[in-house]
Amino acid sequence: MKIKRIAHLGIVVRDLDEALGFFTGGLPLNMTHTEDYQGMRIGFIPVGDSSIELLQDLSGSSAIKGYLDRNGEGIHHIAFEVEDIGEALAELKARGIRLIDETPRQGAHGMTIAFMHPKATHGILMELCEPTKDRH
Ligand code: ZN
Repeated sequence: MKIKRIAHLGIVVRDLDEALGFFTGGLPLNMTHTEDYQGMRIGFIPVGDSSIELLQDLSGSSAIKGYLDRNGEGIHHIAFEVEDIGEALAELKARGIRLIDETPRQGAHGMTIAFMHPKATHGILMELCEPTKDRH
């Protein structure tokens, strides 16, 4: 398994437009686009070879709603880009590392993704991602 880079940090915000006041007004960063994905609005902000993904709940029942209710705004997850996500998951499984997604699934922004369980990763939700092959 090869980890190539930190692809993005997922940051939960209450209101994406309001958060941009800091992320692109206070900091010298730019948002390239937004994408609506599984009840969330995601804003993509490149930072060098990585990016920040601002995550806003739209549906009231998205994957980040529970986090927001419990913790408020903050860093939700870290995503590593791997060379081969299927192989990476098989290796982690063989090492007994608990996974949320045993098989990869389609994520936002043309990425195939899978999450490891935060109980296995010292409390940090970690995502593996790989650019989806048929889109490249
Ligand atoms: Zn992510």
